[in-house]
Amino acid sequence: MQVVFLSDGADLDALSTGYGITLLYPEAKILIPSAVSTTVKLAYKRFENLLKNRTVSYKDLKEIDTLFLSDTNNYKNAVKKLKEFITDKTKIIIYDHHPVREKLPKNIIRKIKNTGAAATIVVNEIKKKKVELSPDDSTVLALGIYEDTGSFTYNSTTEKDLQAAAYLLKKGADLDTIKNIIEERIDQEQIYIIHQLVENIQYFILKDKKIIFTFAYYDRYIPDISAFLHMIKPLQEADAFFVLINEKGKTSIIARSKRKDIDVGKIMSYLGGGGHYTAASATVKGLTVQEIKNYIEGVLLSEAYKNKKIADFMSKDIITVPKNTQIIQIKELIDKAPVLFVINEKGKFTGIVLSRVLKESLRHGIENVNIENFVIDSIITFEPETTLSEAEKMITLSSQEYFPVLKNGIPVGVINRTYIIKILHGQVFDSEKDIFISRERIKPKFMNYEKKLQKYLPEHIFHHLKEIGKISKKLGFSTYLVGGIVRDIVLGKKNLDIDLIVEGDAIKLAKEYAKEKGYPFHTFDEFMTAQITLDTGEKIDLATARKETYTHPGAYPKVEKATIKEDLYRRDFTINTLAIELTEGKFGILIDFFNGLKDIKDKMIRILHQLSFIEDPIRILRALRFAGRLGFRLGKPTEKLLKLAVDENMLDVAPTGRINLELNYSLNEEKVIDILMLMNRYRVLHSLIPEFYMDEKREEILNRLRDTIMSFEMFFDIKIDRVSNYLLALTYHLPFDISYKLLEKYHFSKSVKFFEEYYEVKDILREIPEKDSDLYKKIKFIRKDILVYICASSEIELSERIIKILKKEEEKQLLISGKDLKELGIPPSPLYKKIIDDVFKKYLDDEIRSKKEAFEYVKQRYIQP
Ligand code: ATP
Ligand code: MG
Repeated sequence: MQVVFLSDGADLDALSTGYGITLLYPEAKILIPSAVSTTVKLAYKRFENLLKNRTVSYKDLKEIDTLFLSDTNNYKNAVKKLKEFITDKTKIIIYDHHPVREKLPKNIIRKIKNTGAAATIVVNEIKKKKVELSPDDSTVLALGIYEDTGSFTYNSTTEKDLQAAAYLLKKGADLDTIKNIIEERIDQEQIYIIHQLVENIQYFILKDKKIIFTFAYYDRYIPDISAFLHMIKPLQEADAFFVLINEKGKTSIIARSKRKDIDVGKIMSYLGGGGHYTAASATVKGLTVQEIKNYIEGVLLSEAYKNKKIADFMSKDIITVPKNTQIIQIKELIDKAPVLFVINEKGKFTGIVLSRVLKESLRHGIENVNIENFVIDSIITFEPETTLSEAEKMITLSSQEYFPVLKNGIPVGVINRTYIIKILHGQVFDSEKDIFISRERIKPKFMNYEKKLQKYLPEHIFHHLKEIGKISKKLGFSTYLVGGIVRDIVLGKKNLDIDLIVEGDAIKLAKEYAKEKGYPFHTFDEFMTAQITLDTGEKIDLATARKETYTHPGAYPKVEKATIKEDLYRRDFTINTLAIELTEGKFGILIDFFNGLKDIKDKMIRILHQLSFIEDPIRILRALRFAGRLGFRLGKPTEKLLKLAVDENMLDVAPTGRINLELNYSLNEEKVIDILMLMNRYRVLHSLIPEFYMDEKREEILNRLRDTIMSFEMFFDIKIDRVSNYLLALTYHLPFDISYKLLEKYHFSKSVKFFEEYYEVKDILREIPEKDSDLYKKIKFIRKDILVYICASSEIELSERIIKILKKEEEKQLLISGKDLKELGIPPSPLYKKIIDDVFKKYLDDEIRSKKEAFEYVKQRYIQP
């Protein structure tokens, strides 16, 4: 029998071509595959009378003598599917317009042309062979041509397609029918998407505004989605909406707004898109629909609230006490508020006292003492008119918990730091929402790390941890090894910072263990932490698992017992959230709550929640330091939030002391150049040094610095001041007074001296002497730390000469010594120094090359024969 083969998911062109083949070969029957496109189904229904007799089903197949392939040239696939019916004698004829990917055997007859539709090829043959066509035949044949050429608009359309269509129209093809069937396709797909969009509508109420999020998944690009959104009524009624269409991991966002105070153009620009405040769009890769939604919600919240006034959010429930009060007099007030406001005779604010401090004092029997002794008066205060965004910047300046609100100096309210952050970033509304990286549903993973731990740690430390685990069990606590060391165990990198977290009471555990062993220890009651010093000198830090939560603006933070998970959630990056349990019975179990293991494997730095960089801008620097050090990348949301935090100048308000510390770490890292390049890329350097720019010259100096520092340290066995050197390379274009201010600002006091010395000698080498001995005269008073910079920033040739001279200087003593001179019979005298210097000068200029030559020279020049 003769069979026309269509591949799975066949479209209209395959059907039209197959139909054409049956017109050319009346005995051929079309084998309709089980899966076909919607339009093929529609066409089959419409033309069932024509097609019914020309199709065959699989169960009716017999041995095939001629096999036609319609709109496909994948003959192997066809042969495989029909192998029971194919013989050596089966003739294969291909009608197709796709490029041939695999070489076809010689005996296959190919009717393969580069046309817009395969149907065009059969229609031409029909035309040539003058096969009669009815109007319905013509319509069926035309369907494939119209669909595959997008009604002649795709650029694959050829002249032949148009000619074939023209011929079919002449033969009576009906355009209305074609249009109905082809357009039905778009409707079907649109309906599918609209259906999803309606199903997935989620409301987000922001004060008086109703915002809709909805999403759909689709496996291919659908043009013009925005054109039919008007059909979805709730969208039209909302104040703003965000429609997210995810196609194969790429999400297109369509955003509309009716209100100026929801600027969708700005929001889309944060996601790399853009538009007007009323209509905008963006395309995002690498984020899930949920992550995008969370992100947009966060931005909406912070946009909506940032110009709001503190007055609207503060707690007015404050307690004031006159400044000449004794503790005992206000005993009953202490439990009513976490802070008391102290005022003078005129009712003006003079400071606060913390209730917990007073309580503690009472506990120790201190009663008749004036509260003035406990007043904290240098604190940041707000006015009722202060906006939340101003407040946000100010709170990062200190670690202060409570911010008094004063009107003309009189206390009117109080607000606490976390509350401000929460209002701006959403946690007040739904504490779940801030889990930006939607990790809340991730189940913790467990792995046995005992063997790895044993291999990694020095034996005695491993032993200590085991014993601490035992005591922990005895006390009913759970104890975990956490932080950088666990990350480094996974990475196989060296680290010996032993940080433990105790679910229970770290101080109690530390005391118990240290006393048992007779080791010295410190406790820090306020922080619930302790430190034990081992007999071998190492230190073990123990901290009680804690979290801070606030329920309303003036409330006490709850820092009591927390779970290890809550404690780890406060950390900077997922890669730092791994914990290894030490408690007896569970010793060595690694717990991964936030996918840290996967992020280490994927080489990713990810923050744990949306607030991270705002809560603590220092994490901006830490993120880039880890990225540079480990060769990791920033996760997408992390990268965006980092950029946002840098753009918002969060580093400006970070404590300068902590910036100093972080920069110190970064500049001492082995991968310092990578870190600096990242800091340049993310404009962190610009944020720290306003006049900063990177160009080729600076890049070259930085790279050469790194190499030069290494060679100096190796050759001369010294430690070079890296920090000053890199700081100089970053600021060499600035006048000294500006660099000086920067150094002061960030507390690089050691570098001030370095800079001064450098600026003093900087011009010394403007003229370079020809002889090495003369060059030596110029540089011999400059310290090596600074010579490093001079070498790295000069011509290579000069740099090599200086290094050579310095190496020779190291050998000066070996060349000839006072002892040698004595042995040569020269009596000790100040002449020795002159001789040694003279020999060295000749050595520098290559007139003397060895110890032997030095001796000969001395004999000849200084010892009369
Ligand atoms: P390193 O190898 O540089 O010592 P580390 O990860 O051990 O890296 P540390 O500065 O020693 O870093 O801090 C110990 C742990 O404390 C970190 O693993 C991290 O989880 C946490 N941490 C440090 N700084 C921050 C911060 N700014 N915000 C949140 N968590 C932090
Ligand atoms: Mg560490």
